[in-house]
Amino acid sequence: MSGRAHNFGAGPAALPLEVLEEARGELVDFRGAGMSLLEMSHRSKAYDAVHREALAGLARVLGVPAGWSVLLLQGGASLQFAMVPMNLRRAGESADYLVTGEWSQKALAEARRLGGTRAAASTEGEAFRRVPRAGEIDLDPAAEYAHLTTNNTIYGTWWPQFPEAGDVPLVGDASSDLLARPLPVERFGLLYAGAQKNLGPAGVTVVVVRDDLLDRAPESLPVILRYRTHRDKESLYNTPPTYAVYLLGLVVRWVEARGGLAGVAALNRRKADLLYAALDASDLYRGHAEPGSRSGVNVTFRLAEEALEKELLAAAAAAGMVGLAGHRSVGGLRASLYNAVPLESVTALVDFLRDFEARRG
Ligand SMILES: *Cc1c(COP(=O)(O)O)cnc(C)c1O
Repeated sequence: MSGRAHNFGAGPAALPLEVLEEARGELVDFRGAGMSLLEMSHRSKAYDAVHREALAGLARVLGVPAGWSVLLLQGGASLQFAMVPMNLRRAGESADYLVTGEWSQKALAEARRLGGTRAAASTEGEAFRRVPRAGEIDLDPAAEYAHLTTNNTIYGTWWPQFPEAGDVPLVGDASSDLLARPLPVERFGLLYAGAQKNLGPAGVTVVVVRDDLLDRAPESLPVILRYRTHRDKESLYNTPPTYAVYLLGLVVRWVEARGGLAGVAALNRRKADLLYAALDASDLYRGHAEPGSRSGVNVTFRLAEEALEKELLAAAAAAGMVGLAGHRSVGGLRASLYNAVPLESVTALVDFLRDFEARRG
């Protein structure tokens, strides 16, 4: 770990040290090709193997059932806010949105520009401290899909389990928890995630989509914006972000070597339990999320005064702990405990928080 910061950033976030070192080892001469992967055609044999390994590895580790396809796209989760309604909501129909934070608000706003939407639930009135209870969700049985954010990166909440939607396909923005915990893919018509939290570097976006939904897109939709295009071309319709796909493949193998999703989820649970226990035992720190909705990957908390929060951030940085400032729209503090954040970083943070409270509490 020499020289490595304790990186609690929310994204782009920490990558596994083993993955970075493996990539460094083959950066200049990729597996004997005499050139870097960065310099190589995306139609080359060497890249083709990388591409297929990333796609197959993702399907394996996520437990993607037959009848669903994995796509590697660009444009981040934010492009999915637009592609989802363009592809899945037919003319004149409506889509439901469960509003649990800023990212779901953005997804809803984008869908609203293009057609009918309903907010089927919102916890904004409670500062997004929790996800809605079953009885608070008013789903339209005729909706084309019901969109939710599986983990709310900014507020630090997640859905411990997902609402029943009958025949309405669930669509999940899983940007910050895909690959950090098992998700029931078979319950979702579509899941998407920008890679830069748990999956790899920025620049590649993972979509898992149920194949029967691919036929809903209207003829007028540009080819590049259709899921069907990318499915039929195996995510090689145009130049993919080759190096990001390569790193994603290495991360998938790293997860598999740690026992797959069950393995990394168990370690993530230990990390989160440690930090929440420290916050609960303290008089200085106040957790933002209600216990039943607490995220296992983004832990949000506040101190009584902003000045003290600033002091804490400066002292943390001096102790080699970075990325702890809350999202610019909500302030406070946030520790992201994604897959690549080692347990030692979390124990170091807990020790630091105790020490800070002893000095300044
Ligand atoms: C980070 C994040 C986004 C934004 O992702 P981009 O790739 O920057 O578009 C959207 N939703 C969630 C839940 C996120 O965590």
